[in-house]
Amino acid sequence: MTKSNGGGVRVERVVRRALCWVRGHKYRVVQEFSPESRRVKCDRCGGDWGMNDDAKAFIDWDRDLEDMERSFGREVKEPRFSA
Ligand SMILES: [Zn+2]
Repeated sequence: MTKSNGGGVRVERVVRRALCWVRGHKYRVVQEFSPESRRVKCDRCGGDWGMNDDAKAFIDWDRDLEDMERSFGREVKEPRFSA
């Protein structure tokens, strides 16, 4: 048996994700890009998504999405967590 550092943190993350899976994410709008497009985060599991009502899209927030919003001339802010 080997002990790895950070194992406890990983378990906690899994528990948080499981909680979100059962109860639903605690969505918080991080930034609105337009009336139909926004970025949301979950304060519980740290999930990060981009939503677009027009495209009925709900996808993981990543570098590509960030670049796309920037290409539309939108400023992408870093999300701030209220501890
Ligand atoms: Zn969540």
